[in-house]
Amino acid sequence: MKQCIAELLGLQGWIIYQVKIESDRIDVYAGRPRKEATCPSCQALTRRVHDRSREWRPKLHTRCNGLPVYLWVRPRRFKCPNCGKVFTERFPGIRPRARRTERAEADWLENLKDRSFRRAAEVVGTSPGTLRRLLLKQVTDQADIEEALKDLPAFALSIDEHSFRGQDMMITVTCVWPERRLIAILPDDRLKTLEKFLKGLPVSVRRRIKAVCIDFKDGWRKLIKRVLPGVPVVVDHFHALKDANRRVDEARLIEQQVTGQRIPRWPLVKNEEDLTERQAAQLAMIRNRYKNVAHFHWAKEQLRDVYRASCRKEAELILDRLILNTREASDVALVQWGRTLRSWREEILAYHDWRVTNGYTEGVHTKIKLLKRISYGFRNRGVYVRKMLLAFLPLAWLISFPHFLT
Ligand SMILES: [Zn+2]
Repeated sequence: MKQCIAELLGLQGWIIYQVKIESDRIDVYAGRPRKEATCPSCQALTRRVHDRSREWRPKLHTRCNGLPVYLWVRPRRFKCPNCGKVFTERFPGIRPRARRTERAEADWLENLKDRSFRRAAEVVGTSPGTLRRLLLKQVTDQADIEEALKDLPAFALSIDEHSFRGQDMMITVTCVWPERRLIAILPDDRLKTLEKFLKGLPVSVRRRIKAVCIDFKDGWRKLIKRVLPGVPVVVDHFHALKDANRRVDEARLIEQQVTGQRIPRWPLVKNEEDLTERQAAQLAMIRNRYKNVAHFHWAKEQLRDVYRASCRKEAELILDRLILNTREASDVALVQWGRTLRSWREEILAYHDWRVTNGYTEGVHTKIKLLKRISYGFRNRGVYVRKMLLAFLPLAWLISFPHFLT
């Protein structure tokens, strides 16, 4: 029976002296069977028990059927024969002077995963401040990446950014192929920070990166080429098409201003095959009356065809024709767009080799937004990064005391 309880409470290797079940709590009196202890000053092993602390000390350990379980311990004091110091024995899973075991802390953090500090504090019966301190102290702001990717012989990463607060951005790194998982949140969006992160990846991890998916960010592209030579960069096709729509819309707004006529937006930015009859008629009107806007729209639809092409060869033909066409455009903005496409030609076409997108990363950002909303925002970057990692990653990758997890 006692052995069974020991296992249930993750106390294998302990001696259970007594279990008292009260109406509002469960008290477990336990100790360690070892007869010797290691001196913390000189590491000598000793069996000389000096005395025992007079009182049993309770340590909150876990919850069982809604009741808190307290582990009561009464540490012995040993006298080191080598250096003469008297020291108190330590128990595995309990830090000196802590009022809780590591198992209790892991439970609390588990509860914090998808809740606000206030709500989680209510659930586990502590204060939001205690939970914040626990998070800052015991959870790392950078997961063990080797561990996070150890089962994947090859993978593709996606790097994107999201708003921490207003215009204050942070970089999100995810694995998007063959499995999807969050890898890291970097504390800001500076190039130096990304560089440090990529350079800090163990060689065994870097060797397995097969592709990296990013947005049109030349700085990032250059950095990846430099730090991860030979790894193809893929430009995310959602971003590429969003960028295309933005350009089409800009051309529309300018045309509207020049002519003083209202030009409808939806017929231009919606996929052509999804237009309603009315929108199709409006598009035909635009093509008739506003040649320049129609040209931008054509370019956008061509870019869509590049992504929809059945193979890279076909995509290449469409993209090269598009790039060539924009060179002679009458609108300088279209010429510039063509130049951007030419500069990113390889990264756009690489989509047909890897078919990776930032879609999953966008999904992560949506969940982050939700978490920020239920938490009423964050002020501290360290708390923020840890709280987000906690929501996405197994606790064992983030804490330093995984031996107490069951
Ligand atoms: Zn000693």
